[in-house]
Amino acid sequence: MIYRHFVASLTFAGAARTVTGSKYLLEHQGQRVLIDCGLFQGLKELRLRNWDEFPVPPKSIAAVVLTHAHLDHVGYLPRLVNSGFNGPVYCTAGTAELSRLVLPDSARIQEEDARNANRHGYSKHHPAVPLYTEVDAQRALSFFKPVSFNRSFEAAPGIAAEFHHAGHLLGSAFVLVRLAGGPTILFGGDLGRYGRPVLPDPSDALAADLLLIESTYGDREHLIDDEGAALAEIINDTARRGGKLVIPSFAIGRVEEVLYWVRRLEIEKRIPILPVYVDSPMATEALRFYSGRVSELDPEMRPAQREVSAFSTERFQTIASTQQSKELTANRRPAIVISSSGMATGGRVLHHMAAALPDPKCTILFVGYQAAGTRGRTLVDGAAEVRIHGHEVIVRARVAKIDSMSAHADRSELLRWLGTFPALPRQIALVHGESGPMDALKASIAQKFGVTPMTPQHLETLTF
Ligand SMILES: [Zn+2]
Repeated sequence: MIYRHFVASLTFAGAARTVTGSKYLLEHQGQRVLIDCGLFQGLKELRLRNWDEFPVPPKSIAAVVLTHAHLDHVGYLPRLVNSGFNGPVYCTAGTAELSRLVLPDSARIQEEDARNANRHGYSKHHPAVPLYTEVDAQRALSFFKPVSFNRSFEAAPGIAAEFHHAGHLLGSAFVLVRLAGGPTILFGGDLGRYGRPVLPDPSDALAADLLLIESTYGDREHLIDDEGAALAEIINDTARRGGKLVIPSFAIGRVEEVLYWVRRLEIEKRIPILPVYVDSPMATEALRFYSGRVSELDPEMRPAQREVSAFSTERFQTIASTQQSKELTANRRPAIVISSSGMATGGRVLHHMAAALPDPKCTILFVGYQAAGTRGRTLVDGAAEVRIHGHEVIVRARVAKIDSMSAHADRSELLRWLGTFPALPRQIALVHGESGPMDALKASIAQKFGVTPMTPQHLETLTF
């Protein structure tokens, strides 16, 4: 893309040919703005990149603009702050609220990892230090400047931006950036899905010269929605056996969808009314934020359309203290328990699982993606026993999985959204995907629209 003068550049500082670490450094007329500030997660080789020196001095960045509050989009921010960044962080109000939960939580995990490394002596660094601390996270949060959807604001002189609903998480947005005298760039963030409960559909795309679009599920079609049939079967089956249904769930986003479906099945009298417990302080806080912003959710979540509050079931209870959590673990009566973490790698859900797994009356239901190497994946793959808190726990409970609750658009949905552009951008860069899905989406876009997207490398720079 050649403009009259060389005025701007974009560097892919993360999520290039991988799904984490989203960071795009925009430089225009001497101003630097970073779009998203995500943590690299997963493989060690990727996680080590969190320790690399940032490509430019963080102090020289005028502002950060965030698409949404998932860690792979915001989790590097406290590190940027403890390396010198001290400018405004623009995001939607929902993203600011959820960041207040996820950033300090991430810092506590970083600090705990450093403590464990020191205790067991497995760090290269002596002493091991955390990537950032809770103090850094709180300082980062003090820089947040919430901005409304659909309203242009100046991120830095000559760089205007606006947020539009992405339908992927509370507050999630895609960002249209207009460079004075230069191109318009649409940062797609993570795109949600069409026709799902809780979150709105993604807004239609707006004219842009360059588009960055995620490709997480660029090679996949999600299962057709079953209107709650699989969940109803699992709840009925567990209730018939008189056991507990334990649902490991990500604290933010997924819990809301599970509660929506349980409530709907109750209203439609397709399941018995059971006590439903949310045992995760972070999930309880997130529920509060979701309930406080129903006007930003799917129209069907608005109070006028529902006779009960957005995320409540007939016999609903949140669990606060660890003492209450222990009592719930010991209680053998039939119930639905939703608790974190989603892949059973830690958190309170482990206690519920340790109690329920040996009991053939109970069911463990996984509702999210289970990454290789996690306890959740081991169970879904049919393990006969699993190690929890240093003990082998025998698996006699039913272990089930529902795949339909993904928060990312699949291939057809990505293509559908691309079809909402008034005219397709002349340049498309695929980001946030592994090479298989990315290549598949590249071929689909080329075939459908006659534009061949690029697939930038880590730290590649485009100039305009
Ligand atoms: Zn996301």
